[in-house]
Amino acid sequence: MTKKVKIGNITIGGGEKIAVQSMTNTKTSDIDATIAQLEALRKAGCDIARCSVPDAASAKALKTIVASTDMPIVADIHFDYRLAIAAADAGAAKIRINPGNIGDESKVEYLAKYLKEREIPIRIGVNGGSLDKKYECMPLAKAMCESALEHVALLEKHGFYDIVISVKSSDVINTIKAYRLLSEKCDYPLHVGVTEAGIYEKGLIKSAIGIGSLLCDGIGDTIRVSLTDDPVKEVYAAKEILKAIGRYDGAYAEVVSCPTCARTCIDVQGIATKVEEYARTLDKSVKIAVMGCVVNGIGESKGCDVGVAGGKDKSVIFRDGKIIATVPNERILDELKRAIDTI
Ligand code: SF4
Repeated sequence: MTKKVKIGNITIGGGEKIAVQSMTNTKTSDIDATIAQLEALRKAGCDIARCSVPDAASAKALKTIVASTDMPIVADIHFDYRLAIAAADAGAAKIRINPGNIGDESKVEYLAKYLKEREIPIRIGVNGGSLDKKYECMPLAKAMCESALEHVALLEKHGFYDIVISVKSSDVINTIKAYRLLSEKCDYPLHVGVTEAGIYEKGLIKSAIGIGSLLCDGIGDTIRVSLTDDPVKEVYAAKEILKAIGRYDGAYAEVVSCPTCARTCIDVQGIATKVEEYARTLDKSVKIAVMGCVVNGIGESKGCDVGVAGGKDKSVIFRDGKIIATVPNERILDELKRAIDTI
């Protein structure tokens, strides 16, 4: 069991719910754009959001940004401990910084003391693409793990233990190996993700394999799906990963749909897409099927609470495997929604 770490109003680790994270891709100094994106992330179900703080203007903007939302905001800092201090003053709930990269040890000592007094945790975020040269002789997974532990030791030396760790690579297998190694060597909560995973489909697959494998091993306390796309899609993807492995906390509507074949009688893709949109608005546990034919549809969707099986001009709406209505095909969506609402 990992230790618990508090990030604002969210606790991660120690068996708490797995928190979903994402990161804004607006300029943090553009306060309006960043606040709007954070609100979109919150509405999508994001638990914790990160903003880059590359300069003093961003650190200054962070104060207004933090005040605009209940979501804990993590400040992403590279190298400059003064920006970490400024972000802490602005109300950041966690600082992502690698203490070994911020210069002489007096700065590490100062930062550790400053954040400890304010109960602000640090995420050590090791990235396989930017490791110190001294790790070049090691296999990548071991190198990422060793590098993270070196940063940890530096913080612990200065009495700082409020730590979260990530060891991400764009290579899925090395990411999985690195987290497995790390989880054997320390009990700090782990922020899990595959970094620079790529554009939408590619990033989804790499993240689902990497994050999903680790969570199935019982490794991971908070997750971020990294996509070259709208960050809101990262949140949806993270939630789908959690649902797929039974780790989603809360009620949700699940839509299953058949892959279609020569027997298909209705626009399964179009209907399923609209049902999926509707399902996202529901906060109850219901399993909905959209199936292309009556020949196999009802039987193949056994276990679903409600669904439609397509026919040539008319389709059947079924509930718990029994037909409850026969409807013209143009009425499928309305009638299916009506059936869902009665559950
Ligand atoms: S449910 Fe019917 S249409 Fe869909 S894949 Fe199965 S046989 Fe084909």
